Amino acid sequence: MSTGEGAAALVLVLNAGSSSLKYQLLEPDSGTVTADGLVERIGEQISTISHEQGGAETVEELHLPDHRAAIAKAMELFASKGTDLTEAGLCAVGHRVVHGGRSLYAPTLIDAHVIDEIVRLSPLAPLHNPPNLVGIEAAQALLPDVPGVAVFDTGFFHKLPDASARYAIDRALSDEYALRRYGFHGMSHEFVSRRAAEFLGVDYAGVNQIVAHLGNGASMSAICGGQPVDTSMGMTPLEGLVMGTRGGDIDPGLLFHLHRVVGMSVDEIDFLLNKRSGMKGLCGENDFRAVTAMIDAGDADAREAYDIYIHRLRGYFGAYLVELGRTDIISFTAGVGENAAGVRADSLARLAGFGIEIDPDRNAVRGSQPRIISTDGSATTVLVVPTNEELAIARHAKALVVA
Ligand code: ADP
Repeated sequence: MSTGEGAAALVLVLNAGSSSLKYQLLEPDSGTVTADGLVERIGEQISTISHEQGGAETVEELHLPDHRAAIAKAMELFASKGTDLTEAGLCAVGHRVVHGGRSLYAPTLIDAHVIDEIVRLSPLAPLHNPPNLVGIEAAQALLPDVPGVAVFDTGFFHKLPDASARYAIDRALSDEYALRRYGFHGMSHEFVSRRAAEFLGVDYAGVNQIVAHLGNGASMSAICGGQPVDTSMGMTPLEGLVMGTRGGDIDPGLLFHLHRVVGMSVDEIDFLLNKRSGMKGLCGENDFRAVTAMIDAGDADAREAYDIYIHRLRGYFGAYLVELGRTDIISFTAGVGENAAGVRADSLARLAGFGIEIDPDRNAVRGSQPRIISTDGSATTVLVVPTNEELAIARHAKALVVA
């Protein structure tokens, strides 16, 4: 196995999300990125791929029906830019894998057993584990001599206290089937909370934080002295906040009603909750930029979808502020959290009495670096902290293969 020692050790990171594929070729210690790319709107009529390498960006619009096609296209662009990945000095391919269940939580070298386990866990994350596996299989076929490392979204929340991890249902049943809250977006919650402490020059173990990861998928976490004590996603990535195509929290009784009275099958209900809910279900668009454009054009459904999105966010902020007792830092991250100033302002509006005050001018500033958006007088410091799941994965992957 490659030891990955030396300055040239590179990691190829594949981060296959529900409708997107992010990839990067990078050096984990310095964070220097040789090439990166983003495929968006996979499965829609027109997908977009943007690939950046050697200072030049290639953007193409084409139909990419699934993640396999997206990865194949990315590999083609690498080759067209002169990078033969078999000779690029890779020490590992790092894969984001969403659900590791109880058995997989630390970064893990991928072998047949690990693949079987990820397949077994796929029903828990039907939108995510399957595209993650497509990435793993494509990388194994292309780079059979480079070790693959799986880094799990659930890993950071492995030690979630029972009070938040355990569902209040029959104890024996939940123990037998490992029914519990696992939490997701763990790499992002860990990366952002560590970065926030580093940015402010405070001890990670000495501060209490809330992280709002708001992308297509969305989740929030409460972190007390570096240990996650709560998170909004549960046994699957369906629980919690309103998301692009997932509605988050729902009365389970509604599902029985859909089955018994409306006559929907379990698969139809599954599809409804994963694909036809959230912003998409409420106003027809899951992309937040499109929702914002609809609101600006006076669309009432989009306006109501936005209000529901904010209402849920505020509910979680309230819960976590009480749970932590003292909150030193709140960070917004991911596509919506980093870019939608209105969401940040509205979700923390009217909280001066709780020691949280956003500065409108600071909040309006755009940028790619961590930044403070609260007033100097705000007891809780509110930040925008761009997430970097790829760098987090690359560092975990290199640490494992070098060890
Ligand atoms: P994921 O990784 O879960 O696919 P991202 O973190 O890439 O998601 O976030 C995607 C979301 O961010 C989309 O809803 C997109 O519309 C939103 N987004 C991206 N840029 C902006 C922007 N400038 N303003 C508002 N929303 C944005």
